[in-house]
Amino acid sequence: MRVSSNRSAKPPAPPAPEPLAPLIDAHTHLDACGARDARGVAEVVDRAAAVGVRAVVTIADDLDSARWVVRAAEWDPRVYAAVALHPTRADALTDVARAEITELVAHPRVVAVGETGMDLYWPGRLDGCAQPCVQREAFAWHIDLAKRTGKPLMIHNRQADQEVLDVLRAEGAPDTVIFHCFSSGSAMARECVAAGWLLSLSGTVTFRNARELREAVRQIPLEQILVETDAPFLTPHPYRGAANEPYCLPYTVRALAELVDRRPEEVAHGTTSNALRAYELSHISGVLP
Ligand SMILES: [Zn+2]
Ligand SMILES: [Zn+2]
Repeated sequence: MRVSSNRSAKPPAPPAPEPLAPLIDAHTHLDACGARDARGVAEVVDRAAAVGVRAVVTIADDLDSARWVVRAAEWDPRVYAAVALHPTRADALTDVARAEITELVAHPRVVAVGETGMDLYWPGRLDGCAQPCVQREAFAWHIDLAKRTGKPLMIHNRQADQEVLDVLRAEGAPDTVIFHCFSSGSAMARECVAAGWLLSLSGTVTFRNARELREAVRQIPLEQILVETDAPFLTPHPYRGAANEPYCLPYTVRALAELVDRRPEEVAHGTTSNALRAYELSHISGVLP
């Protein structure tokens, strides 16, 4: 969730990592990375492509952003979109908004309904943040939308493990469920794995103080892991505090490979084939050898 920081105080951009291919950034925010138009999008995606990131899924969290991500996905063949109202903005889910989101989700380059879910961190800390009961209702609506359209559900879960599971069980989960930026512990990882859901891992797996998460990650089969940047947030170690971008994904994947004791190429290949399957991107030729 986005609380703008003082940009002038930001450390310099992380250096480009050694290339690692093929990778797909399963969750990023190109607009929040500073891309405005087709050219700005191409610049960010070119930097990512140079280190092996072959495609990105850019996520909307409000209605303006939802309109923008769909355009971004039309501008560049390496960009796909996901559309929803972020749980913290659930107050804005009026009938008019529901109609527009439903229309945008039907677009062929929109590959998921998200990010939706529950966020119990921001209520009371952020002015205008939707209360949990409103978030819950909006989450249920997005679950139904994912089921009606057959598109994957992409979940944002911040300090709300039990609430998210409750709503999923009450409503009935869609076929494909992705927990973006999975940051919970082992018990939650086991629940999600048993349900057949995908867990998308971000820069948080590189954080040395994320002991419980790093323990949980070892319990997730490679077949259920996606990788993401959630850029411009959650920049991987040792560049925390700098602005993240999709080109930083190899840092996270190498740290993840070390954590699960596999070769980085194996994690790259495995997570990319998971993303191709989950988002139904099998028509992208040449991503996998
Ligand atoms: Zn999120
Ligand atoms: Zn996000």
